[in-house]
Amino acid sequence: MKILVINAGSSSLKYQLIDMETEEVIAKGLCERIGIDGSNLVHKAHGGETKFEAAMPDHKVAMKMVLDALTDEKVGVLKSMSEIGAIGHRVVGSGEYFTKSTVVTPEVLETLEKTYEFAPIHNPANVMGIKACLEAVPGTPNVVVFDTAFHSTMPDEAKLYAIDYQDYLDYKVRRYGAHGTSHKYVSHEAIAYCGAQGKDFKLVTCHLGGGSSISAVKNGVCVDTSMGFTPLAGVPMGTRSGDIDPSAVKFLADKKGFTFEQAINYLNKKCGVNGVSGISSDFRDLQAAVEAGNYRAKLAVEMFAYNVRKYIGAYAAAMNGLDCIVFTAGVGENSAFTRGYICRGLDYLGVEFDEEENKVRVPGIHEISKPGSKVKLLVIPTNEELMIARETLALV
Ligand code: AMP
Repeated sequence: MKILVINAGSSSLKYQLIDMETEEVIAKGLCERIGIDGSNLVHKAHGGETKFEAAMPDHKVAMKMVLDALTDEKVGVLKSMSEIGAIGHRVVGSGEYFTKSTVVTPEVLETLEKTYEFAPIHNPANVMGIKACLEAVPGTPNVVVFDTAFHSTMPDEAKLYAIDYQDYLDYKVRRYGAHGTSHKYVSHEAIAYCGAQGKDFKLVTCHLGGGSSISAVKNGVCVDTSMGFTPLAGVPMGTRSGDIDPSAVKFLADKKGFTFEQAINYLNKKCGVNGVSGISSDFRDLQAAVEAGNYRAKLAVEMFAYNVRKYIGAYAAAMNGLDCIVFTAGVGENSAFTRGYICRGLDYLGVEFDEEENKVRVPGIHEISKPGSKVKLLVIPTNEELMIARETLALV
């Protein structure tokens, strides 16, 4: 079966068509500037790339362009849309309305609208993508896969904030986490690689990219995660502050004359390693600056690594042990420099970090701990689209 995976943002729409027999990507692409002047679609298939420029006033038009590209005589990969067996959609926030991937029905669509308050920028866009598919390819099943679903197994003591319990009950304010599809994918890969299926296995997965989150995964099930009610919590990120005392936010907002919205925007967009370094949110730029002797760049990387290490230690304590640490996403997969800062100083846990192996680049799963290390260190490329396609296939 061929499965189309859709990841709709507020002004963008990413897609991948995956052949589930081989799990190979047949075509993929990106629509940008939906609803803005200069919208375009870049479609990649048959080893080539084609740019289509046309007005995309909304997601419905964008979706129609994607389907036209997929069935195009020259650059298409399908004879007709009926070859698409199912469509899997990434949805960012579920609130407590959903705890797992679900086939879209009219009732599910109605419930999805109630989740908007938990992800006001992303979820309406995700639902626009679903509605566009329902219209463009009627009769093809659609499945929603939530970023938060993998974290829905967290026990109450991990997921709740210490606020008035009645406020949790009334407003569902709690830790939901994010990047769940990625944490789930790399957890499955790590468990299979270590031959740990069905065994008592304690894993910490570090999704380190533009946004970063750490999860504690016990026997394949998420028991804690560093992001919170929104992705603003946890370790410092590219531009997000991560954990910060709310009273410091109030103090800073008063000093800078920010409204509450402006303060939250500042914490999301102007902080993290970008704010600390004053240079960049990109770890490649930070590495170059550290190597040139820049103090603030070094401080930013050290703060990032220190906080990742702190979460690893906290989760080893939460699970009463640790067997494996996984690094994934843009920084986790590519930055040996940043992994080095994180992995030096974990020896008390039984981690034997292999400095030389860490510098080597290999495709697929890469072990960067020494043979015999009590805790294995693995670099695993994430694949959220494949995870969405697998979940979709399982449901249809
Ligand atoms: P993601 O959010 O997973 O796409 O990760 C994006 C981030 O990964 C970028 O902002 C960079 O900081 C980082 N990144 C990507 N490639 C590299 C690389 N080769 N070396 C260091 N950092 C990288």
